[in-house]
Amino acid sequence: MDVFVRRGDSLWQYSQIFNIGLQLIIDSNRDIEPGSLVIGQRVRIPGYVSTDYVIRRGDTLWGIAQRRNLAVDALSLVNQNINPNRLREGQVIKVPQKITWRLVQGRQEYDYSTMMNDLSRLERVYPFIRLPSAGNSVLGRRIPEVLVGNGAKRVHYNGSFHANEWITTPVIMTFLNDYLLALTNRNPIRGLSMQRYYGEALLSVVPMVNPDGVNLVLNGPPPDEPYRSSVVELNGGSTDFTGWKANIRGVDLNDQFPARWELEKERNQVGPGPRDYVGERPLSEPEAIAMAELTRRRDFARVLAFHTQGEVIYWGFENQEPPESERIVQEFGRVSGYQPVKTIESYAGYKDWFIQDWRRPGFTVELGFGINPLPLSQFDEIYEEALGIFLAGLYM
Ligand SMILES: [Zn+2]
Repeated sequence: MDVFVRRGDSLWQYSQIFNIGLQLIIDSNRDIEPGSLVIGQRVRIPGYVSTDYVIRRGDTLWGIAQRRNLAVDALSLVNQNINPNRLREGQVIKVPQKITWRLVQGRQEYDYSTMMNDLSRLERVYPFIRLPSAGNSVLGRRIPEVLVGNGAKRVHYNGSFHANEWITTPVIMTFLNDYLLALTNRNPIRGLSMQRYYGEALLSVVPMVNPDGVNLVLNGPPPDEPYRSSVVELNGGSTDFTGWKANIRGVDLNDQFPARWELEKERNQVGPGPRDYVGERPLSEPEAIAMAELTRRRDFARVLAFHTQGEVIYWGFENQEPPESERIVQEFGRVSGYQPVKTIESYAGYKDWFIQDWRRPGFTVELGFGINPLPLSQFDEIYEEALGIFLAGLYM
């Protein structure tokens, strides 16, 4: 919601009248010098929408504010053109409404455009988040990163490396929405103050690493050639893509990282197709390159890659993980009920590469149990299990 600065106003005053943390207001207005507001200047207030209210006989601003649990000054601020002592019946005024509900509906077939729409809605209501681009997919789709917080601890979560594991995207998006709701409403989640994490951590989220693959599984082949024909051919002539994990060129993005890639190549002797093809060389695919460059640029303290399925958490790679990885994964296991597993015979994954090159904690979290793609009927249960891990990723 936008307000316009009056003489003598300050961001601190807005923080008081809207009961929103000052830092959230400052971060929602990065183009504004907080100490020198200009009269008439637009300021974004996060966590609110403006609604219309039709004045009834006997209404006063004070009464309306009382009923809506608002400061009278909040009403005056958004209605600078009205005379509060001369409200007329039928007159329309603006009333700020604090958003206490989710904007993201995660329990649906969640394709790329659903995510992009949700991200722009979240950005409008919570302008303290940032949405830089991590790169582009083969079909030219922008791969957005979401940044929340301004702390020193850089934590990264990602989802949908694998196309038919797309449920990880709405699970992550739901957490993102709940985090933002908790910040603007000053609500704890499972007893934990989220304002504290906002100040301590910078959370980086890439909710959908493989947008072309996700849309392939959910919506079928893309409309444009050559990929429309080639992807069906790579799928053995079938238009059923429920078993598809790879990107649109048939490369498994989680087999693309330079962490004993040659061993993975030897292990998976398959060509381009639905799964397990390592590519012609490490980091040949734009989606994998985007994730590698983002990871180098951001210098993450830890990364969590969300996959399905198995209810296990992989946390080691060639004994290169630091000692704290084990402590952290124990907590992930405790809060989710998932089983920590140190290693399996598998290489060239994103978390493998992160552990190898940074010697910092990296995890692959396998959400849920069953056959991919996991059914949406599991969504709520998976979310509850994942929530503990999302939170522990911030506090551990
Ligand atoms: Zn996977």
